[in-house]
Amino acid sequence: MPETQLNVRLLSHTPDPVTAIALAGRLCYSDSDILSLREGVRGRAPQFVEKLASLGHLSPFEHASFTFGAEGVSRALLAQITRHRVASFSVQSQRYVKQNGGAYLVPPSVAALGEEAVARFEAQMDAIWNFYGEWLAAGIPAEDARFVLPNAAETRMVFTMNARELLHFFSLRCCSRAQWEIRRLAWCMLGLVRREAPELFGHAGPACVSGACSEGKMSCGKQAEMRKRSEALTVLASDGAEDEAILSWVLQNIYNEN
Ligand SMILES: Cc1cc2nc3c(=O)[nH]c(=O)nc-3n(C[C@H](O)[C@H](O)[C@H](O)COP(=O)(O)OP(=O)(O)OC[C@H]3O[C@@H](n4cnc5c(N)ncnc54)[C@H](O)[C@@H]3O)c2cc1C
Repeated sequence: MPETQLNVRLLSHTPDPVTAIALAGRLCYSDSDILSLREGVRGRAPQFVEKLASLGHLSPFEHASFTFGAEGVSRALLAQITRHRVASFSVQSQRYVKQNGGAYLVPPSVAALGEEAVARFEAQMDAIWNFYGEWLAAGIPAEDARFVLPNAAETRMVFTMNARELLHFFSLRCCSRAQWEIRRLAWCMLGLVRREAPELFGHAGPACVSGACSEGKMSCGKQAEMRKRSEALTVLASDGAEDEAILSWVLQNIYNEN
């Protein structure tokens, strides 16, 4: 059975998201009509957006949406990311898509134990998929046969978050307290949107990247390291790095920061 690895892409986003947010924010404080407002924010949108963020006036950030495609992620990740209720999800169905030959994720902690441990993990996955195949062969529908599948089983999804939700998501899921798989996904998403809209996401990430740690006694105490990591991602993003380069940076740098 095949092992798989994270792949995430930014599929689309609101055109000119910074202007969309600035226009909406400006409208709240102006008696101008829409077209004059649009003219007025031209060239000054980044300053407006920064001002809105500093005031904590974040509802205008909901006018810009970002749609991602992710694969090579586990059902364990799915359970976590779908807790973010403000996002929209379309997920590959285990009812309609038979998982024969299905892929799975090997956790880095198992991989770190060496080849023997990985072979053992793979054998366990093979056994599970054999159970699954047995139930399908016995005429049990995929929606019930899937009950034996593991959390490691791969899934694919398309999901959309607005900029406000993304800022919140990054604060929780880029933090070293978040679980490694969703943390990797989050840093990858951060790299992709920071490249497209640095004015919105330049300071996004765990709280410690732009201020004090929000984790209290649970703090990892690695604020300096986290800031360095965020700066390295900014350099990559501002160089217009390809998706693959961002993904590869994340796979190399985001895992063992606890
Ligand atoms: C490190 C970590 C460990 C976790 N451990 C666990 C765990 O052990 N068990 C567990 O069950 N979950 C756990 N979670 C999940 C966590 O409790 C949240 O469900 C998840 O992070 C989604 O966050 P959210 O509710 O802020 O996000 P979103 O759903 O993205 O909501 C964004 C914001 O909108 C507002 N909002 C949304 N819906 C409502 C609502 N109905 N009422 C009021 N305000 C609303 C809130 O301000 C919320 O912060 C963990 C998360 C993290 C990051």
